[in-house]
Amino acid sequence: MAGNHLPYPDAVFFNGKIRTFAPGTPVVQAVACSGGRVVAAGNSDEVLRLCGADTREVNLKGRTVVPGLTDAHVHLADKGLAERELVDCRDFYGPVSTIDAVLTRLSKKAATTPAGEWVVAQGSPMQDFRMTDKRFPDREDLDAAVPEHPVSISFGAHVTVANTKALALAGIDRERQDPAGGSIERDPDTGEPTGILNERAQHIVSGVIPDFDATQRKLGIAYAVQQSLERGVTTIHDIVKDPAAVRAYQELKAEGGLHMRSSLLLRVIESHMSTDSVLETGLQVGFGDEWLRVGGVKMSIDGGITGRNALFYDPYLDVPDYRGLIRIEQDELDETVLRCHRAGMRCCVHAIGDRAFDMSLEAYEKALAASPREDHRHRIEHMGNWLMSPQRIEKLVRMGIVAIPNISLGYFVGDSIREAIGAGRMTRAFPLKTLLDAGVKMAGGSDAPGYWPVDPLRDIGAYVSRRMLWGETLAPEEALSVQQAFELHTTHAAFAGFEEDRKGTLEVGKLADMAVLAEDPFEVPAERIKDLKVEMTVVGGAVKYQA
Ligand SMILES: [Zn+2]
Repeated sequence: MAGNHLPYPDAVFFNGKIRTFAPGTPVVQAVACSGGRVVAAGNSDEVLRLCGADTREVNLKGRTVVPGLTDAHVHLADKGLAERELVDCRDFYGPVSTIDAVLTRLSKKAATTPAGEWVVAQGSPMQDFRMTDKRFPDREDLDAAVPEHPVSISFGAHVTVANTKALALAGIDRERQDPAGGSIERDPDTGEPTGILNERAQHIVSGVIPDFDATQRKLGIAYAVQQSLERGVTTIHDIVKDPAAVRAYQELKAEGGLHMRSSLLLRVIESHMSTDSVLETGLQVGFGDEWLRVGGVKMSIDGGITGRNALFYDPYLDVPDYRGLIRIEQDELDETVLRCHRAGMRCCVHAIGDRAFDMSLEAYEKALAASPREDHRHRIEHMGNWLMSPQRIEKLVRMGIVAIPNISLGYFVGDSIREAIGAGRMTRAFPLKTLLDAGVKMAGGSDAPGYWPVDPLRDIGAYVSRRMLWGETLAPEEALSVQQAFELHTTHAAFAGFEEDRKGTLEVGKLADMAVLAEDPFEVPAERIKDLKVEMTVVGGAVKYQA
């Protein structure tokens, strides 16, 4: 009977070039996994010796393995749903370079939709800059293509266009006032709404579109999870704003259908969850398990840069005297941050413009003075993208605030952002080397899917090459090494998730989450890292994706 009681591993991955990112043992050939964790790492021979009759042996055939990647800022549940259910007019996903091409897709959908039912679509942020028409479609364009259905199409998170039927159902006419924090664009001659709705004005239309059901929501998450696994992602920090999304996650997990790990950032303010309702549960950051947990609360101070609503001190170049949009005033922000902080929650504040950066730093400064707490790991979403003055860097380091930059924003729409805010504010965009050297804690987040796919390899490639999709090399002096770039999506991301005890490196005792790559990212030219094929993604020792 000797040996029967030995805990044979569930799986052994051998004959690989496993970059563990662990100090001391950077590269090993094999790892053994049991109960979802790494139980041994070393040479193939010694690890294979541990196998029992039922151990699954996976020959890596010399390929490179890295720890499973984390994307620290996604809208997966929301956008996965959109991806499955909405008409796709996004130019980053297909050839949609004219208003005509958008209208063709809408009328095609209308042709198979009963008259009177909604046609809901999504475009890409700042698509008006890139389409040959150099503008968004308006209600007249939409009416001409789809006269018998209410139509709504969003271009990123900050702009929605509706046709006449949709505006009527939402009660938007020339008499309708702009809501606080939003604007209804109007024809300067007639005063009639053009169909273009900014920021909170979008909610007037989205509020009358029929909601999705639970099955659609689960399928949406599962779909987006699959897309992420295909790019080596094993953990996401997902911003959710609807209890239905939280329920969908739990049901999916209970049904055995959640194949990636998710930390939920519960959005409060402009959300279907209030600060009160979240805090009254008594939940603190970390509640949950290794698959699904509470990662903190999220709130947004300003609008998005892609809708030119990020809050800056200086005006936009193309909208005279306009400095962006404030969604949460300083008083409300201070109070909300302090309450969440005191309740043991971790805060994630969205700030994109420099004035919003300073508002968020001020709120944290006050909360930490009123109620000092070590290791809070409060975050500022989108900080690190630009305008990182020495003063802001000093505050981040001193207070221990985690910055979540999004180089994907620069990669896809950096050129249009520069047109909107000017080269001056973009000269040292994404100064990631400066921030790392200064000791700022950081993790990478893409703001995907929806805008663009979840793909940390694309972002890692951009940190290293600084080569943007639109052709320029942006501030090459801020390039990271390949190792540093991976750390933003492994070890540092684990820290940002309060999970460095079990994620980020591949070593005994940690979760067996890993990505098998077709080539070694440390040995290909930086421009090619984004194109590296993921051949296998392993979560908890189980193969969840295979090319
Ligand atoms: Zn976001």
